[in-house]
Amino acid sequence: MESKFDVASVRKQFPILEQKVYGQPLVYLDNAATTQKPRSVVKRIEDAYFGQNANVHRAVHLLSQQATEAHEAARVEVQHFINAAESDEIIFTRGTTESINLVAFSFGEAFCREGDEILISSMEHHSNIVPWQMLCERKKMHLKVIPIDDNGCLLFDEYAKLLSPKVKLLAITHVSNVLGVENPLRQMIELAHSQGIPVLVDGAQAVAHMSVDVQALDADFYAFSSHKIFGPTGVGVLYAKRNLLEQMPPYQGGGEMIDQVHFEKTTYNKIPFKFEAGTPDFIGTAALAEALRFVEEIGLDKIAEHEKQLLDYALEKLNQVKGFQLIGKIPERHAIVPFLLKGIHSYDVGLLLDKLGIAVRTGSHCAQPLLERLGMDTCVRASFAFYNTTEDIDRLQAALNRIGNMFN
Ligand code: PLP
Repeated sequence: MESKFDVASVRKQFPILEQKVYGQPLVYLDNAATTQKPRSVVKRIEDAYFGQNANVHRAVHLLSQQATEAHEAARVEVQHFINAAESDEIIFTRGTTESINLVAFSFGEAFCREGDEILISSMEHHSNIVPWQMLCERKKMHLKVIPIDDNGCLLFDEYAKLLSPKVKLLAITHVSNVLGVENPLRQMIELAHSQGIPVLVDGAQAVAHMSVDVQALDADFYAFSSHKIFGPTGVGVLYAKRNLLEQMPPYQGGGEMIDQVHFEKTTYNKIPFKFEAGTPDFIGTAALAEALRFVEEIGLDKIAEHEKQLLDYALEKLNQVKGFQLIGKIPERHAIVPFLLKGIHSYDVGLLLDKLGIAVRTGSHCAQPLLERLGMDTCVRASFAFYNTTEDIDRLQAALNRIGNMFN
């Protein structure tokens, strides 16, 4: 079974997938941690360094103008990719983590007081927990957590009960990086907004798998990382509504973010530059734009369809493996299969899969509170991208059978 999607020709764009690991053809199933890069993205980096490298927004010379144009064109590319109303609402950061830290600091300074609350869920990545804990500590505020059921689905009624005038922000993941479950964002945001509460969405695990429209969602903040959507590491995006950004103070000080600097007083640049202190990773942003074009050319609808077929195939095949325990019975999963093999520690499963050429992630997946809630401290996670195939799943199934036989 293979979808109409031409996975073979797509794979040719990813040279890393052709390599062998311990003598076995690589099966890369750790895409939730980071994705592989197509030729066009790496070529964009090379072209930029060899043909266009000069600092942006500063000099009048041609190279600097070209680099600035590429960097600002990348902002527009991101704007269109997530359907933001304007490119000034796109801030470049180092990744999802920095985007969330920016909001926790800057929104916290502007809008939060002692006794206020921040609301998150039980399934958050540490990046969407710790910055809020730090804010709460700094401002003597309280962190409230929306509970989930035993399968890992958010309890909507409990969420509704936690909303109150004390809540200053809801920070919620779009898709869980452990379970692949998608949260009902539209309903959640609508309810939060009906009480005047803005919402930050952690989109790290969503953008590569579904088309995201920040205006349709009415998200106030939306964060994601370039490296999880086939772009380079070290670049991230924070989308934020203009009216919020204009009320928030800068996150870091330095060059680029200023208007006038005098020892007596400094005034700040307009958005988005107010939030981009120092030299940005302008080569990385241009390469991110290339990655987004690559994804758009394939089409997120086709990607989602292919990944759904892969997921269905994987669940069918892996459920036949003796001792395979899927974590969480979730109606709609995205590209992630978290599991245990009965009686075998996750680390042993991960290590042995590696020796058989299969890369998966083991551990607590930067979501310790979630694993604790589900009654475990580690699990194995196989996560897909559009370049994965049913043969990859067959290899995983065969390898798990072999590992099971070795232990039993
Ligand atoms: N949020 C989620 C849901 C994630 O899966 C990740 C990374 O795995 C992050 C945040 C952090 O992303 P980064 O390390 O790129 O900042």
